[in-house]
Amino acid sequence: MTIRFAGGPEPAEGFPVPTSAPAVSHLDAPATDRRALGQALAALRPRPVLTVGDLLDHTPFRHEDYRSERTLAEIGPGEEATIVCTVERVRVRPTRRRNLVIIEAAVRDESGPAVVIWFNQRYLAKQLRPGMRLSIRGERRPTIDAEIVAKSYERADDDSGGIHTAGLVPVYPASEKVSSRQIRALAGEVLRHAGDQVDPLPAATKARRRLPLRRDALTAAHRPDTQDEAAAGMSRLAFDELYLLQLGMLERRARFEEMARAHPLPPPGELTARYLDALPFELTGAQARAVAAIDADVAGDRPMRRLLQGDVGSGKTAVAAHALVRAVESGGQGALMAPTETLATQHLIGLTDLLVPLGVRVVALMQGTPAAERRAAVAEVGGGGPLVVVGTHALIQEQVAFGTLRVAVVDEQHRFGVEQRRALEEKSDGEFSPHVLHMTATPIPRTLALTVYGDLDVSVLDEMPPGRTPVVTRVLPLARRDEVFARMRRLLDEGRQAYVVCPLVSESESDREAAAAESEAARLRDAELRGYAVAHLHGQMPVSERRSVMDGFRRGSTQVLVATTVIEVGVDVANATLMVIEGADLFGLAQLHQLRGRVGRGAHESFCILLADPATDEARRRLDAMASTSDGFELAEVDLDLRGEGTVLAVKQSGIPELRHARLTRHRALAAAAREEAAEQLAADPGMTGPTAAVIAAATRRTFGDDVDWLAQA
Ligand code: ADP
Ligand code: MG
Repeated sequence: MTIRFAGGPEPAEGFPVPTSAPAVSHLDAPATDRRALGQALAALRPRPVLTVGDLLDHTPFRHEDYRSERTLAEIGPGEEATIVCTVERVRVRPTRRRNLVIIEAAVRDESGPAVVIWFNQRYLAKQLRPGMRLSIRGERRPTIDAEIVAKSYERADDDSGGIHTAGLVPVYPASEKVSSRQIRALAGEVLRHAGDQVDPLPAATKARRRLPLRRDALTAAHRPDTQDEAAAGMSRLAFDELYLLQLGMLERRARFEEMARAHPLPPPGELTARYLDALPFELTGAQARAVAAIDADVAGDRPMRRLLQGDVGSGKTAVAAHALVRAVESGGQGALMAPTETLATQHLIGLTDLLVPLGVRVVALMQGTPAAERRAAVAEVGGGGPLVVVGTHALIQEQVAFGTLRVAVVDEQHRFGVEQRRALEEKSDGEFSPHVLHMTATPIPRTLALTVYGDLDVSVLDEMPPGRTPVVTRVLPLARRDEVFARMRRLLDEGRQAYVVCPLVSESESDREAAAAESEAARLRDAELRGYAVAHLHGQMPVSERRSVMDGFRRGSTQVLVATTVIEVGVDVANATLMVIEGADLFGLAQLHQLRGRVGRGAHESFCILLADPATDEARRRLDAMASTSDGFELAEVDLDLRGEGTVLAVKQSGIPELRHARLTRHRALAAAAREEAAEQLAADPGMTGPTAAVIAAATRRTFGDDVDWLAQA
């Protein structure tokens, strides 16, 4: 019998240690002692494999079913199977092509003879010997009688059973330098150390969630007997990651709540009433709920930490402005930080329009703000008088000392790093932190939001403002450009307005961005849109000029606005019913979705034309997705599919560690369960001082490695 300690790695002092006891030290042994192989393993990404422990955690991404064992006579043409046979003769088959080597083995089993061939593996001519028994996974060629092309083979002289050719064969993340086959062999060797890994889950959790022991889960992942077993093992491993992650999040949150203090804001008063009154619309139900949640948050002496999620056009700005007004009304300051100058400028314009008429002071603080103006703004902010400041990263620079920051809003929060967001949270006066509202237009399903932003409260604007009309979206080849502009002219003649979005120019090439918009506008004025009022807009224009262009379009004196992606946000003209996006295949899905959000805002039917001859399959799929749905959540799913969750959810910037087993998109139910269990654990042992805490700490360290620092930072 093997004695294993339920609790964790170390037995109590003075307790005799049986040799069979789990020994964490085994896990730290090098994954292999072969140097070249070790280097190849260390170069694997995203996670290098250095130790036995890493190897155990380097689980297969699928298992190929090689269970169909046949005799040579039984394999039909074109069929794939595993056969066990004896080698009779081996030779290099002559071929006419110089770079093609075919090794041919005459083999036999109890059903008769056959020929097995390998392509371009000359060394086999020396390795394969008459009399050898081989287990071969291969496909019988449909055309040539009794000839089998080997996919994989291994010696079958003993009865140990094949690991590469029989049963469920694990397929590992590999590289050019190290094959799945090599990893499979190594993983097989270290599997006996599966029990040396700490099992972090309390027994009650395992029982409640019907989860196997961690050691069994590892074995099942690497060497399952059935696909169900593999799946059960993989879910247990994913559960552990999600559980430890949630525990870290919840603990961090608890610690933050215990330590951090904010100024409670007095209840909404006259200024808030005037603000709501001055809004040109009634809040939607979802906006009203978000506003109420914010009002409740800021009334407390714990800093608000809320995530406001809402698709493009769902009306986040009005909610953010409400929070900022509350800060000013309390006699303090509100700050809005956006990731780019363009976005910050849009907010500056929007908030100026909304708030200045109410007597609220609005200032800007960006890289591009002229030095003198900037110095004045820094001084004013430092002075502590009530105001709203809008800016970029410039807001969190050292020399900016807020006098009385009460509310901070972070727009497109996933585009900032953890450090930057934290820097804003720490822009407090004395020991007080501001109330913080994070905003995002990336539609993250709720369970994912809980995982990635588990330490935030979440409000979702799941209801669009009234009066939106669905947008008809078409993908058209460049060859039909003329038709598109003919259609545009008809709409313009009917009194409508239109957008033309120029082909994408990267943000670093800002000069070219300006040139692209200007020259495209000039070209259209001379050609397709001769006689129509065409204006252009780009991110390099001074704010005042941009304002006047946007005003002209709003008033209707401009019929067509030719723009770069700056119109992603802020421009809101109900009469604009057509958007033509040129070179649409080069835009990202999120960006296309944002752009399209500019039309469909009035009573007239609206159109979005994506002009492109997509060169890649991925681009084609992006465009097709745009044409098939206008639901931001659905598009986000497609985007996840195409680009992976790391990029789309900006998992890196969110500060959460890299996950090996859990897929945030796939393991939603598991994530929710893990969160519940983590909350349970924390409720039972709030200080994390109980007997399982050490086990959890050890598992957390092993699971997240250096990323564990993230958990240590409150
Ligand atoms: P986003 O969430 O994309 O930032 P905005 O805040 O820019 O959305 O709002 C999009 C547009 O919808 C703006 O023009 C805004 O004036 C308008 N809007 C916002 N809330 C409402 C509402 N409750 N009713 C009608 N229009 C609204
Ligand atoms: Mg917005």
